[in-house]
Amino acid sequence: MFSDELLKYDWDEITARIASKTAADVERALAARRPAIDDFMALVSPAAAPYLEQMAAKSRALTQKRFGKTVSMYIPMYITNSCTNSCVYCGFNRHNKQPRVVLDPEQIEAECRAIRRLGPFENLLLVTGENPHVAGTDYLERALQVCRPYFSNLTIEVMPLASEDYLRLTRSGLNGVVCFQETYHRERYKVYHPAGMKSNFEWRVNGFDRMGQAGVHKIGMGVLIGLEDWRTDVTMMAMHLRYLQARYWRTRYSVNFPRLRPSESGYQPNVVMTDRELAQLTFAFRIFDEDVDISVSTREKPDFRDHMATLGATSMSAGSRTEPGGYETYPQALEQFAVSDDRSPAEVADALRRAGCEVVWKDWDKVFD
Ligand code: SF4
Repeated sequence: MFSDELLKYDWDEITARIASKTAADVERALAARRPAIDDFMALVSPAAAPYLEQMAAKSRALTQKRFGKTVSMYIPMYITNSCTNSCVYCGFNRHNKQPRVVLDPEQIEAECRAIRRLGPFENLLLVTGENPHVAGTDYLERALQVCRPYFSNLTIEVMPLASEDYLRLTRSGLNGVVCFQETYHRERYKVYHPAGMKSNFEWRVNGFDRMGQAGVHKIGMGVLIGLEDWRTDVTMMAMHLRYLQARYWRTRYSVNFPRLRPSESGYQPNVVMTDRELAQLTFAFRIFDEDVDISVSTREKPDFRDHMATLGATSMSAGSRTEPGGYETYPQALEQFAVSDDRSPAEVADALRRAGCEVVWKDWDKVFD
């Protein structure tokens, strides 16, 4: 399990190694045929900042070689904001006295129809808070069954599950699982996640092994930028990615690095990442791994998203509502965070085409399940 692997690494030592990288290290990383973790550290280090143009050019070339100019579109559907956790940065925190919503199957179906009216989406991301009493495996299985006729590809972003639950959901039409580790800093993790099942660092970080063991087709990983030193966090995520690829090699992987946005929690980020740094990270990940799908969040501004889609990112959401029932049933319910890109799906698609991208709504079919 990855929690054991992680014990081999010391957070402060990795932070110091990244800070010590030089221009020569960056140039070596840029020339590497298959960059190693040490190269990745150089590419995300402050020493790489003057190399942003070279990194962008290499990232663009690698992305086009592997993905063409495609950008895969998806849309999230929040089906409950009920949560038993206390993540200090999140609007769904259980201490937030806002009304909670758990969509029933009829309401989920109404949301499916509303999304289909918004655009030709075939990739759906079902999102819940973490409350096993109201949104456990039975509820998720029913939700997948309701959504299946409307979409070709179903991904969930829910509480970490047991391997047998992932397997069961896979048999009910699940194609992918997204889970955010938030931070790999084991001690500080407990400060941000003080109570509830999410406070169990090992259960969360080992959830990716359980997904791999269950044969989940695609695993999405992410850290939340704004908690701890982002360079160290993404380096540990890169190590985690390599670890998973070596063991669960039939699975595809995606990465995402959202920056903290304002929410009902009122939490202010500890660490601020600039747009240039987020671009550097996107390019570094592409150079590190040609195959990984890189998603760019609706937390980012339209111009930035469009730009990243031409340089390294390969998937994005559009028209997103981050409140359960937000497309049709409860447009005013509690949202998880404020989005920065509020363009319609058609406007996003038009902007991407003008930037030279090919917008892909469907790249999977139920027949492959
Ligand atoms: S981040 Fe997830 S688990 Fe934490 S409070 Fe928000 S919805 Fe719940």
